[in-house]
Formats: sequence, C-alpha cells, structure tokens
Amino acid sequence: MAKITVRNLTKRYGSATALNNVSLEIESGEFLVLLGPSGCGKTTLLRCLAGLETPDEGEIIIGDHVVFSSKNNTMVPPGKRNLGMVFQSYALWPHMSVRDNVKFGLDVLKTPKGVADERLDQVLDDVGLAHLDGRYPSELSGGQQQRVALARLLATQPPVFLMDEPLSNLDARLRMDMRVELKRFQSDTGATTVYVTHDQTEAMTMSTRVVVMKDGEIQQISPPDQLYRQPENTFVADFIGMPRINLVELDTVDGRGTCFSNGDIQIETGWAPGVQKVIIGARPEDITLSADLNTPGEDYQISAVLPNGPETIIQLMRGQTVMIVRVGHDTEFATNQTVKLSFKRQSLNIYDAQTGVLVT
Ligand code: ATP
Repeated sequence: MAKITVRNLTKRYGSATALNNVSLEIESGEFLVLLGPSGCGKTTLLRCLAGLETPDEGEIIIGDHVVFSSKNNTMVPPGKRNLGMVFQSYALWPHMSVRDNVKFGLDVLKTPKGVADERLDQVLDDVGLAHLDGRYPSELSGGQQQRVALARLLATQPPVFLMDEPLSNLDARLRMDMRVELKRFQSDTGATTVYVTHDQTEAMTMSTRVVVMKDGEIQQISPPDQLYRQPENTFVADFIGMPRINLVELDTVDGRGTCFSNGDIQIETGWAPGVQKVIIGARPEDITLSADLNTPGEDYQISAVLPNGPETIIQLMRGQTVMIVRVGHDTEFATNQTVKLSFKRQSLNIYDAQTGVLVT
C-alpha cells in the first residue's frame, strides 16, 4: 500500500495560481476527498498526483518513490506511477466491447487468464454491467460509460486510486448505490484513494478525511464529523452543511469579563482577550424555537416553513437578520408566528470577525 506526501506544491497557469504552496500527507489506505467550490484547484492537485500536470514547485512522494521534485528535476510519467485513475471523461476504446475495455487494463498488467476472467465477471457484476458486456461504448448511456471506466479501474486493483467526480453522470439512485460499492471496494482492497468532488454528501459519507480548498489553498483537513462540528474558519463553516450554518456577527458589550450579546446569545468573554467583534456559528439543528413569548430574548417572526421529508426547515427574520432552523417533520410552527430562540451553547463555534478564524 502507499502513503502519499505532497510538499509545498505550486502550480501556475500564466498569471493564475491554481495551487499555492499546498502540503498534505495522505495515509496508506485512506479515503481522502478533495472538496471545494469550482476553480479552487481540486482537479489540478489530482492531475499533479497523476503526473498529467507538471507543477512549478514542490515535491510529490508516492510510496517510497519521489515522483515529482522541482529541486531535482524529477518528473515520473503517469504510466510509471502505479496508479489507477478515473476522470470525468472516460477515455474508453470505441472499437472494444465493454468486456474488452475492462480487460484491457488487466492485459497491460499481464494478469493470468483465469484470475483475469474471474475478476472481470466480478467487477462487471459489481457495477451492474454484466448483461451489457458485449456492447460498444457508442451503444451505452453516459452513466453506463462511466461505470465501464470505474470497472476498468477496479479490475486492476492498483495501490492508489485517483478519481475525479467519477459518479457525476449517474442518476441519484445509482449514484447512491455506487457510493456504497466504491466504499466497499476501497476498504476491501485497502487502496489509498484521492477523490475529487463538489458533492458534499459524497465527501461526508465516503471519506476518512476531507480536504476543503479555496483559491488554490487548503482551508481545513479533518474527518467529516469534525469538519461539520468544528469548522476552523467561517469559509469552511459556510461551505459545509445544507441548509447553511447561521453566522451572526456580535459586538462585545463591556469588554473583558462581561458578555457578548445581541439580546439572544450570551457568550462569556475571557476566551479571546482583545477580540472586539465575533461571529457566532450555529447549525440549524442547534437552535431551539419556543412559542412561549415569556422566554428571554428578542422576538423573531417565522417567514417560511419548508417541510422536507423527515425534517422541516424554518426561516426566521428579525430586522435584517435571517436565521434558519431545522426541526422535526411534525412541527406545529406556522408562517407569520412570533417565536423565541435559544442556542445550545456547547455546539456553537465562535470566530474572530476580523480574521474569520475559530477562537473557541
Ligand atoms: P471544478 O470543480 O470546476 O472542476 P477545480 O476545483 O477542479 O474546479 P481546477 O480545474 O483545478 O479547479 O482549476 C483551478 C484554477 O486553475 C482555475 O482558476 C482554473 O481556471 C485554472 N486552470 C485549470 N486548468 C487550466 C489550464 N489548463 N489553463 C489555464 N488555467 C487553468
């Protein structure tokens, strides 16, 4: 199995910096997801690992091999990096059947025929294409072609999987099934996996750790639960979670030893001396609503009630402030109702409003 180390990697396209001094250690057998908004550098990082892009500076080590180093002018070509890749474009051979496309990778590796046939049957079955194995790529839908590309990768069992949005062309149900299959495959083979997606659910459900990127830089690397519960800055807090986190700016009232308050949220000071303004991050499920108007705090008005299967999303307004709260499916709250809010203090994150960095 293979550990991957990335050190101080920078990649520029003309005057644009796609990756800015990125460093990262990927443990052997890990399922690491690269997540972030469009243009943040996810694909560029994956292509640098694959050897499809030449970085400007830095170093990449896969297993025991330095595959790229700007200092020593080392650039190992993709075919010699011992990786399996699935990218958004499937690169299938048009003149070969589904079975032959998948078999191709095994032939290149000179896999003995008996082993190859057994593995072929297994992966074609796993990706749900056994019944189409004689068809040609032009006779398949986009989603089916994507599954052929996946099967080709899975059949060769490389120690490192690199995947760029491999499920993007599948419909919602098939995508869910394939997530389960991919995760199972990955844990069965123990392959170190680097997976690019902009789908949060995919990132949160499949990964051992998520790397959140923005403008070519890493914002946070954490297991999914920690990423959700303790985002390290307001960008990550805002990016992760649907519906979005509530970010509320507050002033200090009397400085040291007293409290931050907007009338509803009382936060003790002493944890961040000198911070004048903070941003409170409250997930929609960490806010409780009360119809009892004797509860302390300001009045909020319910501006929308949106049932969503097992939960209900409620939007509240007070002046310019909008809050989103998640409650159960059987809520009795209604539009235009006046309510009070309370917060679960231990689940709130507090950020320095100036830097956006988590203080507690
Ligand atoms: P997406 O989710 O939209 O695929 P991404 O996070 O994968 O985005 P990249 O494709 O890595 O982002 O692009 C990072 C930045 O580098 C972007 O600003 C992009 O425009 C730029 N870029 C990527 N490839 C090239 C290229 N071949 N030539 C010039 N600029 C490029």
